[in-house]
Amino acid sequence: MDFDPTGFTITKIRRHAKWLIFDLAPHGHILSHLGMSGSWQMSHAPLSEKHGHIEFIDKNKSEFGVLTYIDPRRFGHLYVLNDENFKKKEDSLPIDISSPDFDKEQIALTLYSHPHKPIKPFLLDQKAFPGVGNYMASEICARAGILPTRLAGDIEADEIEKMKAAMDVVISGAVETKGTTFSGGYRDANGSKGEGVKHLVVFYQYHCQMCLERGKVTKIIKTTMAGRGTYHCPVCQK
Ligand SMILES: [Zn+2]
Repeated sequence: MDFDPTGFTITKIRRHAKWLIFDLAPHGHILSHLGMSGSWQMSHAPLSEKHGHIEFIDKNKSEFGVLTYIDPRRFGHLYVLNDENFKKKEDSLPIDISSPDFDKEQIALTLYSHPHKPIKPFLLDQKAFPGVGNYMASEICARAGILPTRLAGDIEADEIEKMKAAMDVVISGAVETKGTTFSGGYRDANGSKGEGVKHLVVFYQYHCQMCLERGKVTKIIKTTMAGRGTYHCPVCQK
């Protein structure tokens, strides 16, 4: 902690890979990494949540006056940084998958430098694909028509193009729907279930939503890969 942020104002909250960045006025930034189980919740009054660790309180008492960081497993990190240290930290963060620099060449380079890794768990490697969460990894494979067990080195050029398109859809979905990405347990910051689940084609689905659009009914197959729930359609994905 470079300084005590008491009395400072949060002017903007943005995302970079798995980090949330709070821009502060008059100066400085807070960096929050949610770890495995962290989440931020907005509320009218302070939460009685026993795992609430940090509270920001809006003295103007606007609609949602309290922002609380909750982390039952305490794997998250929080840094309060001055502008100079923040710049250094920001420069060291990997290119986020939502960045224009994360294009199909970057995806190809990443895949072909780890050819023996199964694609779905590999998508969760934050050094390789910063910002991809578990539900996103299943959704990207589904929308790109790739089985989650395929090896990175076997993904073909046209499939990489589909992966890029799928990433764009999944990322924009997460943003439009109030940030499903940051909603540990699929809640948005107001504590309600994220709208994002409505747009999912395989994750947490009983039937493949892509098949349904073509008038076909296909049961989704759920497996576990590297300890994480994985969903795929046996018809749409090869
Ligand atoms: Zn399908």
